[in-house]
Amino acid sequence: MTRRRRGRPVNPPIERASTLLVDDAAALYDPDIETYGRGGLAVHDALREAFVTLEGAAACTLAPSGLSAMTTAILALAQGGAHVLVTDCAYAPVRAFCRRVLPQFGISTEFYPPRIGGEIAARLRPETALVVLESPGSLTFEVQDTPAIARVSAAAGVTTLVDATWTAGIAQRPLALGVDVAVHAATKFASGGSDVFLGAILSREAEHGARIARFARACGLAVSPDDAAQVLRGLRSLPLRYTAQDRTARALARWLEGREEVAQVIHPALESHPDHALWLRDFTAAAGVFAFVPAATDDGAAARFLDALKVFGLGFSYGGFESLAVHAAPQIKGREQPPALSGPLVRLAIGLEPEDALRADLEAGLEAAAGDPGRT
Ligand SMILES: *Cc1c(COP(=O)(O)O)cnc(C)c1O
Repeated sequence: MTRRRRGRPVNPPIERASTLLVDDAAALYDPDIETYGRGGLAVHDALREAFVTLEGAAACTLAPSGLSAMTTAILALAQGGAHVLVTDCAYAPVRAFCRRVLPQFGISTEFYPPRIGGEIAARLRPETALVVLESPGSLTFEVQDTPAIARVSAAAGVTTLVDATWTAGIAQRPLALGVDVAVHAATKFASGGSDVFLGAILSREAEHGARIARFARACGLAVSPDDAAQVLRGLRSLPLRYTAQDRTARALARWLEGREEVAQVIHPALESHPDHALWLRDFTAAAGVFAFVPAATDDGAAARFLDALKVFGLGFSYGGFESLAVHAAPQIKGREQPPALSGPLVRLAIGLEPEDALRADLEAGLEAAAGDPGRT
């Protein structure tokens, strides 16, 4: 059989391996040779390199989900007896982890108001190990003064960690703003397909990166090579998808703002947002994810809106190709200082569908929400 020589594939090969064979007995315990696949294969290396480039980081550790990336980073950076400051607008499962799990390790959590800025200095204690940010906040989109919080924390020798999922490495570069560690739930924008879980932990300094990598390795975190390949593929089109969703979302947010069935639109790129100036200063784009409060204030208004939607799916998450909507009352009720809103909060995640189809769907939803509260 004659064989032609082959060119190289564009992408790294997807190896599936637990055991990695070596050539001789001496190599079995050679610290410079990887002998087990849990620590990652060629596709994981390629994905880590892509994230490092995207965020301008020194190191990247992968985790099996965005939530595990956050919990791994927190545990790696705080020790027994430590005090951790967490923004009250953080992703609800991260807040639940801090409340329920950290006490088992002797770590205490204090939730701080997201708009605290440099005044976080007054909350830093000798035993404070970590300040956790998320900007804009999950569901309510408070923009934090990231540079001020990073500067004050660094001056006190306290590490900063941000959940940067909304920014996707496109809208902001938190490490360049002084944050030590940034986490992405790559499940969302990086993947773009709503069919895979993955998290990435990015460190500005190699030292934090090594500490997190050591911790993740010791805990046995492993990411499937197929999942890593899916996310690597997603990253190739991330800037185009993110930009398209941003454009559609801003157009729909502005349109919603002009509707009498809507009391408030919460989108940091709109002039009406209380933190718009901070967003202008620290961001170059926005995610296609925002919220609004219907003018109808009864409890059923959000449900009437959601039940009338046909193009938007009802479901959690964002960053995929498909538009999604949820109401957010339970997550907000769980907060230490829930924001004051005039009615129920609805979050929209804008996908890649045509803008006019989404607008027509929202219009039908608004009509239903404004309708007779008794009629469901
Ligand atoms: C979805 C999300 C996470 C969790 O990511 P998973 O991959 O679903 O575990 C963490 N933080 C934010 C802000 C998110 O939106």
